Amino acid sequence: MDKQFIEKIKKKLLEKKEEVLSSLKKEVDEEISDVESDSVIGDIVDEANNVYELQVLSRLSQKEQEKLEEINAALQRIEEGTYGKCVVCGQPIEEKRLLAIPEARKCIKCKAAEERMKIR
Ligand SMILES: [Zn+2]
Repeated sequence: MDKQFIEKIKKKLLEKKEEVLSSLKKEVDEEISDVESDSVIGDIVDEANNVYELQVLSRLSQKEQEKLEEINAALQRIEEGTYGKCVVCGQPIEEKRLLAIPEARKCIKCKAAEERMKIR
């Protein structure tokens, strides 16, 4: 798969990830600033960063968490060089489909087959 296309996809994935996280970050930020307005921060900053991440992640709905996992998995596949292959049949996923849904793991045929299974 050509490098420029991959770069484009990668950018899209990162944007999507940011999108999922940004609204939640804002929410948590507001709460944290309420709490910390009267307290000393100092040495606990490192720790606070972890707590912060956890708080953000714990706010995600099941669906958003799944989405994030899919996005991370897609980024992982880009790193491994296996991106763009259908996990079911091993055929390359249509580029048009990847542009629309960059985290897609299945080609359109396998996805359609899966949807049909769900309905039954
Ligand atoms: Zn397939």
